[in-house]
Amino acid sequence: MTARIISGTEIAQQIREELKAEIIHLKEQHGVVPGLATIIVGDDPASQTYVGSKIKSCQSLGIFSANFPLPNETSESDLLDLIEKLNHDPKISGILVQVPLPSQIDEGCVMMAISPDKDVDGFHPVSAGRMVAGQPTFLPCTPHGIQELLIRGGVETKGAEVVIVGRSNIVGKPVANILMQKANGANATVTICHSATRDISAHTLRADILIAAIGKPKFITADMVKAGATVIDVGTNEIGKTPAGKRILCGDVDFDKVKEVAAAITPVPGGVGPMTIVMLMANTVKAAKLAHQLN
Ligand code: NAP
Repeated sequence: MTARIISGTEIAQQIREELKAEIIHLKEQHGVVPGLATIIVGDDPASQTYVGSKIKSCQSLGIFSANFPLPNETSESDLLDLIEKLNHDPKISGILVQVPLPSQIDEGCVMMAISPDKDVDGFHPVSAGRMVAGQPTFLPCTPHGIQELLIRGGVETKGAEVVIVGRSNIVGKPVANILMQKANGANATVTICHSATRDISAHTLRADILIAAIGKPKFITADMVKAGATVIDVGTNEIGKTPAGKRILCGDVDFDKVKEVAAAITPVPGGVGPMTIVMLMANTVKAAKLAHQLN
C-alpha cells in the first residue's frame, strides 16, 4: 500500500479561492477591505522571507497590507507604541509581529499588547484561553491549518486516536486543544508525546492520526507508524541548499518509508507549510468581519 498524499498546496489554493470571493463580497457589499499590519524588528533573513510571503499573499487576495520594518535596536516601548497605534487604526484588521524579537524586547509583553480583536496569529492569552474553552476565537495558524488539512483531506477525527509528538506553544499544545474539542472536525482522543515520554513508539503505534512537530529530520520512522494511519508532518528542517541557494527541506517523518505503511500522509514541502499562511489570511478576513459586526 502506498499512502494517499494530502496536498497542503492544493487545499490552501481552494481556501484562497474561497477567501478571494469573500473579500470581493466584503468590498462590494459592505465597503470593507481587510488589512494586515506586519511588524519585523531587525534583519533576520528567515523572518524577512516569512514576512515577504505574507505580504505577497495579502496582495494576491486583495487584502490591504502595511509593513513596518524596524531597526534591530528598536526599544520595547517604541514597539508597544506602534502596536497601540495599530490597535486603533481602522484600516488594520489584524496585527502580526514576526518572531524572534531582539533580546531587549519581551516577546510575551508584545503579544499581550496586541488587541485580542486583532490577534490574527492567535497567540494572545485571551485567544488561547478561548481556544481551550472551545469558544469562538482566532486559532493559531499552523494548528488550524492542520485541522483544515484533516477535514478537507477527508480524514475522520471523531473518536480517532490522535498522537502528537511535540508540545510547543505554537504547534503541539494548540493542535491538541483544537482536536480534543467536542466539535465537528475534532472530537478526537488526544495524546501528546515529548522529550520525556518514556516509550514514544508505544504511543505512536496506537495513532489513527499521527502529528509530528518535533524539529528533527526523519524522526518518525516506518516502524513507529500503525498500518493505515494518517500522518501529518509539521517539521520544516533545512538540510542543505541547492547550488542556486534554495533551501532543501526535510520533514520530521521519514516520508519515503512511512508512505508505504500509512494510508494518508502530508509531504514536506507542500503539506502543512502552505496552510499556515492561508489560515493567517483567513484570520485577517475574520477580524475585518468582526470589526464590522459581519460575523
Ligand atoms: P519546538 O518548539 O522546538 O518543539 C519541539 C517539540 O518536540 C518539543 O515539545 C520537544 O519536547 C519535542 N521533542 C524534541 N526532541 C524530541 C525527542 N527526541 N523525543 C520526543 N519529543 C521531542 O518546535 P516547534 O516550533 O513546535 O516546531 C516543530 C517543527 O515544526 C520544526 O521543524 C518547525 O520548523 C516546524 N514548524 C513548521 C510550521 C509550518 O508552518 N509548516 C510552523 C511551525 C513549526 P520538549 O518539550 O520536551 O522539549
